[in-house]
Amino acid sequence: MASAAQTSPVIKLHHGDLPAGLKFPRGVAIDTETLGLNPHRDRLCLAQLSGGDNFVHLVKFDGDTYNAPRLKALLKDPKTEKIFHFARFDIAVLEKYLDVETAPIYCTKIASKLVRTYTDRHGLKDLCAELLGIELSKQQQSSDWGAKELSQSQLAYAASDVLHLHKLKAKLDEMLDREGRTEYAQAAFAFLATRAKLDLAGFAEQDIFSH
Ligand code: MN
Repeated sequence: MASAAQTSPVIKLHHGDLPAGLKFPRGVAIDTETLGLNPHRDRLCLAQLSGGDNFVHLVKFDGDTYNAPRLKALLKDPKTEKIFHFARFDIAVLEKYLDVETAPIYCTKIASKLVRTYTDRHGLKDLCAELLGIELSKQQQSSDWGAKELSQSQLAYAASDVLHLHKLKAKLDEMLDREGRTEYAQAAFAFLATRAKLDLAGFAEQDIFSH
């Protein structure tokens, strides 16, 4: 399917922080890449950001310093919505390495679970295929994000994880509204900060609501 979303994105690579002067009036889509799935062991290597246009800003961290005042200010700016797919992981990593509580948050995975009850496939690839008709490649997902130089295919993969989140949010918001579940979604997004803190505190595998 031909669409504007598939014209190649403009990818800007930065080191250590965002440049000055960026504006995200429609909210900002964010993803992170780490050395693995344990935030206490596996460091933050990359943060990807897009304003819902065709631009993606990649902030690369080389491991020693996590001084990123402009990125931190954006993450906690109450007027800028941060759109993630599986925010629970990203905000825990951002809290651990940047010492910042991200808010406000929208999570396309939670929204999907609340409305796409006809399937158990809630991966980003599944959402892009069904809701947008876009095929994503997951080829570089488990590559070495700590490498000194990232390859062109790593950069393209990293960018593709944030390029479609604004359009997914628009589709999911329509579905949430249609099914009367917008309030559940908002309450779940508001709880995410606590969920991430519980994960970091060692409660990741435990459902504290279960019997
Ligand atoms: Mn990713």
